[in-house]
Amino acid sequence: MPVPFEGGCHCGDCQRIAGSPFVTGVLVPEGSVKIEGDLKSYKVEADSGNALIRNFCPECGSRILVESEGMDGVGVSYASMDDNSWLEPAVEFYTGNAQPWVTLCANTQKLKEMT
Ligand SMILES: [Zn+2]
Repeated sequence: MPVPFEGGCHCGDCQRIAGSPFVTGVLVPEGSVKIEGDLKSYKVEADSGNALIRNFCPECGSRILVESEGMDGVGVSYASMDDNSWLEPAVEFYTGNAQPWVTLCANTQKLKEMT
């Protein structure tokens, strides 16, 4: 299965929800992810104005996946995958918002905002 997007986001919202300087994930076709157990979700507004639905584990609070009407697929957090060893970030978003002590990945495309 080709992966259309693998990367990280340094935006303030991702930093807040992850409790970390950035979030990493992969965009995959809807329906290609198998979730075991229930998810809880909440909706926020993305910078684009699109609704962003964040889904997380109701037991441990781990972020699992994100959906948006503006995305062609669903975003899955690297850390929530059983096997993420095959993934390598290709792009980083909101690098202008990166914490000054974070070293960006050497081989990623760097975007100051989302596009
Ligand atoms: Zn973000």
